[in-house]
Formats: sequence, C-alpha cells, structure tokens
Amino acid sequence: MLIPTGRKYTVTVTATTYKTVHCQMCGCDFVYPMRRQAQGTGHSPLWLDNKGATGRAEQAAQENLAKKLATEINAVPCPDCGRYQADMVTKLKKSKWRWMVVVGWLAIIVSLIAGWIIWLDDHQFIAAFTNTFWGVVLLAGVAMIVAAKLRQRTFDPNAAARPPAAQNTNDPRFALRRRDFDRLVAAAKQSRGEAATTSG
Ligand SMILES: [Zn+2]
Repeated sequence: MLIPTGRKYTVTVTATTYKTVHCQMCGCDFVYPMRRQAQGTGHSPLWLDNKGATGRAEQAAQENLAKKLATEINAVPCPDCGRYQADMVTKLKKSKWRWMVVVGWLAIIVSLIAGWIIWLDDHQFIAAFTNTFWGVVLLAGVAMIVAAKLRQRTFDPNAAARPPAAQNTNDPRFALRRRDFDRLVAAAKQSRGEAATTSG
C-alpha cells in the first residue's frame, strides 16, 4: 500500500570558482576556472512545510556545491611548462580506458549470472564456463580490466607536455598565470568603478 507522506523538493545550483595552483614542476602560480553543479533535497511531511522544505533543499544544494568547489579539481596543464600536477595526473589516469573497466565488469557479471542460471538447471557450475561461450565472456571481461589497469599504470599525461606556444591572456576561461589573472581582476574592478561613476 502506498501511504502519502508529503512532497520532496530538489534544488540544483551551479557555480564557477577560480582554483589557484602552485606548479610542482616549474614553481609558477596559475589560476583556472572550475564549474560545478550540485543538488539538494528537502522533504515536506504531509505537505505541511513546503516553504521550509524548499529552504532546506536550497541549503543542502549550496552545501554540496561548496564541498565540490573546495575539494574537486580539473586536469588543466600549467600555462608555463605545459605539465599536469600529481593529483591531475591521477584523475586523468583513472578516466583513461574507464569504459574498458566498465565493459569488463559487465561481461563478468553477465557471464556469472548465465553460469548461475545454467547451474540452477543442471548443477554444473564449473562446466558452465569450461569450453563454453560464457567462459569466453568471463575471460574477456577479466582480460579487459587487467589490460585497462596496465595501460593506466604506464600512461603518462606529462610525457608529451610542451609549454603552450601562445596563450590568450585576455580570456579568463583558460588557465592563466597568476599575475595575468590578477591584472584581469583589477581591470574588471576598475571598469566597474568607472561605470558606477558615469551612471551615478
Ligand atoms: Zn609549470
């Protein structure tokens, strides 16, 4: 039986923050923008507190977003030496050949379920995998995961790193050297001040 309990509110918030990085390789400071989205939910028991539920959803969403903005990173090459920091390298390695790990696990799960169904039928679990189609699927799944892990281990995102030939220092959507970023911020502040003076 379905008992009415109230209403669930979901709020989604998005924000961009500027992350400052001190390059571990060349020692320069740079800044890059990072955009994140987060959700929060609030429950209104018996529809009695709809307003409070929206507020709680909003607050939870803001807290989740703040946590993401503070702890997460993007893999962005250094504008001076072109290399990635250690935590960015880890992130890039994990995302590389991820589909092989996912497909590998799917193959293992599907073949084990097939083996289980065969076992229900004739109680020969091992025989379901020796010299059978499902045995091949199971082996292929394991092989894919092993291959992906080995390639992740040897993959080095910094192997072909080169300092960027040219940099667009006027576009804050890209990684910028700290001094260029500070200059942009100062310029933006100044133009805003001028606009305020002319309109007021
Ligand atoms: Zn660097």
